[in-house]
Amino acid sequence: MSGNTHDVMVIGAGFAGMAAALFAARAGLSVAQSGVTGGIDFSTGFIDLMGVHPVAEGIRWDDPWAAVEAVSKDCPKHPYARMIRPDMEAAIGGFTDFLASQGLDYTGHADRNCRALTPVGTVKRTWRVPRTAWKGVLALESAAPTLIVDFHGLKGFSGNQLVEMRKETWPGLRTARVTFPRGSGELYPEHMAWALADPKYREKLAEAVAPHLGDAEYLGFPAVLGLIDPGRVVDHLEELTGRQVFEIPTIPPSIAGPRLRGAFDRGLPGLGVRTLSQATVTEAETVEDGFRFVVGRGGGRTEVRAKAAILATGRFFGKGLIADRHAIREAVFDLPVVQPKTREQWHNKEFFHTDGHAANASGLEVDDRFRPLGRDGRPAHKRLFAAGAILAHQDWMRMKCGAGLAITSAWRAVQGLMQGVD
Ligand SMILES: Cc1cc2nc3c(=O)[nH]c(=O)nc-3n(C[C@H](O)[C@H](O)[C@H](O)COP(=O)(O)OP(=O)(O)OC[C@H]3O[C@@H](n4cnc5c(N)ncnc54)[C@H](O)[C@@H]3O)c2cc1C
Repeated sequence: MSGNTHDVMVIGAGFAGMAAALFAARAGLSVAQSGVTGGIDFSTGFIDLMGVHPVAEGIRWDDPWAAVEAVSKDCPKHPYARMIRPDMEAAIGGFTDFLASQGLDYTGHADRNCRALTPVGTVKRTWRVPRTAWKGVLALESAAPTLIVDFHGLKGFSGNQLVEMRKETWPGLRTARVTFPRGSGELYPEHMAWALADPKYREKLAEAVAPHLGDAEYLGFPAVLGLIDPGRVVDHLEELTGRQVFEIPTIPPSIAGPRLRGAFDRGLPGLGVRTLSQATVTEAETVEDGFRFVVGRGGGRTEVRAKAAILATGRFFGKGLIADRHAIREAVFDLPVVQPKTREQWHNKEFFHTDGHAANASGLEVDDRFRPLGRDGRPAHKRLFAAGAILAHQDWMRMKCGAGLAITSAWRAVQGLMQGVD
């Protein structure tokens, strides 16, 4: 095992961990980060800020800032209640600027959620979408003549289903199924995306689509248009077809995950972040000047020392929280977890109950600097911070605030860390 003392160890490599590592590195701190596959690998690539509140009533908001204000007032323990809008804007702006520097541009309306198409043809309110999905937002808003292309052999995406779902409000929406220019049989988005990095296959794809274009002003594809620089693939297809081109996410795991992870894998080391990827923290202890961690198991164990730590290990999906037969536990430091009193109260009897499930709002209680509280109600450690889905009093999946909450709380955790030790 090799030793090394960093300013901060970021535990987690989902949206919150990536954002925390980015913000900490940009603040000039020396950063180590570990974590394996998380929600980011399965996301649609959309950055939700706040879409639904109250969840029990299913009220959807076009203005996410008004929704943030409402949730902060109605649920004063929600993590958003500890944030102010300029910080939240700076966080998401900093995050999307970084992605743009890695070839993944994001965009959206100036002050309202956009309505984006999902793979099953429903419409979702979200704050920022990849630039490659943006023309789909415009096509949907204007109900302009649009052709959705799908491919023989590609599962998880159906142009017919999309058209069926939207036909009442979007009569100019049509679909055509074509043969992908490279490969036959079952197709996988990642392989298709690699193929389309080659301009030759884009030309062949444009030829396959040409007979179906008709009066279409917009041309929608499943999200397979390139892995590293999808904006360039979209621009080229626009040139070749003369239509406004956009992507629609395929069902998870879609290509959005590898695109995002790839952007961080390429960009974070350049900012000086020591990434211990595909390995988790297996031991954690506090030492006099901070923390000592062991990352990985067996022969691949690495010791990392850090003056501070940001815990961004997610909830159940990320394995930051573990539920046993009796209680919900925090997995790395065994921090106290806010949770229903008994196991019977974890879940609603009806799986799809509009209230959701109490277990999905369990997590860590934090102070104003996003330091998790210990059993005595005081910060568990003066230099331990938390961010993302592991925070209590929020149900990101139902509130539609997943990535937004992860990114903004990571910003606050780094701010808390930069305030120094009191
Ligand atoms: C299918 C799916 C679709 C989604 N779609 C969207 C969407 O459209 N828009 C949106 O805004 N959000 C979406 N999300 C939510 C989003 O991806 C994140 O899950 C959420 O924002 C929480 O992020 P997080 O980083 O806090 O946690 P997670 O994403 O759960 O990440 C936790 C990380 O911690 C790591 N970890 C856990 N234990 C350890 C340990 N001991 N040591 C080191 N690392 C550890 C994990 O390996 C993982 O990297 C989606 C999520 C899923 C699952």
